[in-house]
Amino acid sequence: MQISSLIPETKSIRLSFKGTVGLVPTMGYLHEGHLSLVQKAKRECDHVVATIFVNPTQFGANEDLSKYPRDFKRDSDLLESLGVDLLWSPTAEIMYPPGYQTWVEVEALTKGLEGAMRPGHFRGVATVVAKLFNVIQPDKAYFGQKDAQQAAVIRRMVKDLNFPLEVIVCPTVREADGLAMSSRNVYLSAEERAAATVLYRALSAAKDLYEAGERNAEKLRERMKGVLSSEPLAQMQYVSCADYDSLEELDVVIGKTLLSMAVFFGKTRLIDNFVLG
Ligand code: AMP
Repeated sequence: MQISSLIPETKSIRLSFKGTVGLVPTMGYLHEGHLSLVQKAKRECDHVVATIFVNPTQFGANEDLSKYPRDFKRDSDLLESLGVDLLWSPTAEIMYPPGYQTWVEVEALTKGLEGAMRPGHFRGVATVVAKLFNVIQPDKAYFGQKDAQQAAVIRRMVKDLNFPLEVIVCPTVREADGLAMSSRNVYLSAEERAAATVLYRALSAAKDLYEAGERNAEKLRERMKGVLSSEPLAQMQYVSCADYDSLEELDVVIGKTLLSMAVFFGKTRLIDNFVLG
């Protein structure tokens, strides 16, 4: 596995690859969720490029940028063991040199859910992903369903800006008790970690209701809120039952639907979602 940081060396390594290239963008501190994306890319592409970049422009002023967990040695060993060809890990100065002033804004899709709670977040995400695409020029790029709105935003950006690549969205990888894997789970105390299964329990309860025939979206939201409120350590930020493509809140569930939520445990904010239909 080659490791690069500067853009010219990254481009020249990329140009040496013959055949198809899969890109897996990450912020590092890798877990099985990230590795599932790498494994899928390995199966589908001749070469795999992974990136590790904790992108400052997608963090709000009061968010966890400075204490975001990092372990480059462990991450690079894991990626090498999976057969990744190139690990590109740029610095913030490389991605945003002095004078930087160009941004990608995906409009309606970023107004609600995470976008409403984290102003500017998706502007940072779309911009950095566009830059990763331009440098690596992958044939396929792999994202997790765990970050459902992010996946929708990237799909929209690729369509709108005519990036010549395919976006692949991979299923959420969970711990045995249902908690979605996340780099941020390390922030949880033992009590919070035990309580954090409430996201999965709330989503499962709403899914059960849906499978029993309930199509009133407010009833599904109420079910999720009810389960979340049974857990004293969980502070709900939002629950949503929205159209899968537009992410607009629904009155009646008809087609493909996204159940999603954001919940605080102390200072740690977790998100999770299920897709219905
Ligand atoms: P991050 O390092 O949090 O930016 O995540 C990098 C990529 O891994 C994103 O496309 C995430 O959606 C994806 N990802 C994160 N957690 C999971 C998970 N539990 N299952 C599947 N994909 C995930």
